[in-house]
Amino acid sequence: MYIIQIAPECSPVAKVGGLADVVFGLSRELEMRGHTVEIILPKYDCMRYDQIWGLTPCYQDLWVPWYGGAIRCTVWFGFVHGRKCFFIDPHSQDKFFNRGVFYGNWDDPMRFAFFSKAAMEFMLKSNKRPDVIHTHDWQTALVPVLLYEIYARAGMPYQRSVHTLHNLKHQGVVGSEILTATGLNRPEYYFAKDRMGDDHNSFALNLTKGAILYSNFVTTVSPRHAWEARFTEQGFGLGHTLHCHPGKFGGVLNGLDYEAWNPQTDWQIPAHYDANDPQGKYSNKEALRNRLWLRKDYKPIIAFVGRLDPQKGVHLIQHALFHAIGNGAQFVLLGESPEASISDHFWHLKRHLNDNQDCHLELRFDEDLSRLIYAGADMVIVPSLYEPCGLTQMIGLRYGAVPIVRAVGGLADTVHDKDFSYRPHHERNGYVFEHADFGGVMSAMNRAIGLWYDYPEEWRKLMQQGMRYDYSWNFPGHHYVNIYEFVRNK
Ligand code: ADP
Repeated sequence: MYIIQIAPECSPVAKVGGLADVVFGLSRELEMRGHTVEIILPKYDCMRYDQIWGLTPCYQDLWVPWYGGAIRCTVWFGFVHGRKCFFIDPHSQDKFFNRGVFYGNWDDPMRFAFFSKAAMEFMLKSNKRPDVIHTHDWQTALVPVLLYEIYARAGMPYQRSVHTLHNLKHQGVVGSEILTATGLNRPEYYFAKDRMGDDHNSFALNLTKGAILYSNFVTTVSPRHAWEARFTEQGFGLGHTLHCHPGKFGGVLNGLDYEAWNPQTDWQIPAHYDANDPQGKYSNKEALRNRLWLRKDYKPIIAFVGRLDPQKGVHLIQHALFHAIGNGAQFVLLGESPEASISDHFWHLKRHLNDNQDCHLELRFDEDLSRLIYAGADMVIVPSLYEPCGLTQMIGLRYGAVPIVRAVGGLADTVHDKDFSYRPHHERNGYVFEHADFGGVMSAMNRAIGLWYDYPEEWRKLMQQGMRYDYSWNFPGHHYVNIYEFVRNK
């Protein structure tokens, strides 16, 4: 099969969140299975150009229709760690992708509407006729609409589309100018509530709603989140729309890049290990203590690695920290927050706990340190209020840090409680709590700390069971191929 991914991010060249990892990881898995995959991205000025090989212009003078006129673009080609990537570079005064940031401009909807239009125009003009066009989040949600409404008749009648919802919080709620700019026009047609009219604002269009309606298939990043999006407030107002299209919506758990995250080969950790011989983990624990000035004591280390965002349950993270140090454990936190109030709060906490040798707070982004933490910690805690998939718990499992998680989204799909799961004992791999409150966090932590102290053999078994899980792209890759086959035959 021939698949084109159109995405606003791709690891490691343009990464803001998990979406970037999905685009890269899925593309590589599909290629390994013998499919042809190409990725179309904006040519941001702030990309990691050192991660692109052989970047050269491959299509000059791509004229993209825009507001009745046209904008000239150059399309560049380059390899990103083996993936074939095309980068759209518009030459216009708007400087759509030369802003020094990926997102956060007032005209983001316009920037990405342009990108969607340009990607379609590039495929049309360069005679790319993929079997499936796979788009991601609101930034590229206009692609399925453009495909069906304009490009199917312009020479792309057999192309099918799949759209993945990574984060429903951001949906692309925009005004009618998007229609004029992209040539869709006909506001009375698109503003209808059964098309793209936003359900909560009669004067706005909802791009994600458009993608749900126009795509041949819609996925989200875990089966549990697919249910949450339809039936709970986590659908952020789109539950009804998803409900109207049950036959073309499902959850596919994201994979983890098992090559990039491998304790057997990770050169950023001092000692290598695997599930059969986890001895190296103890050297890493010592290295972690040395690096973060933690007391050398017979205690488990519990870690949190992630964005300090309300979504992650920041009050529960803080509670977990105090509960850990008050109950015979050590705590390591690595995270940063773009929100000033949260950031200030944690800086204050860091200063307050400065002399405590049983905990350490590192308030910045540091991938190297995160690897040492996963390798050295006994447990990772993920008390999220909302988590479509989540990677931290999967990395924790891979590195033998037993996850303690809230039963939400992908966390519920990947972690199976040691004591209460309905799964057989050999399939259990962590601790899970239901309610996002202090009681929930404490009860799961107490069970984990208790097992660590009282039944070290059992603890080791639990850790090894987690390490043996396969959360690579192997299964999700297979799943996506099935979906592509399904839409291709439609
Ligand atoms: P989200 O995409 O919501 O931020 P995920 O759990 O899907 O959460 O992915 C988070 C990824 O980012 C993980 O790989 C985690 O290790 C990494 N990460 C988050 N914060 C930091 C940080 N401060 N330093 C290093 N890595 C971090």
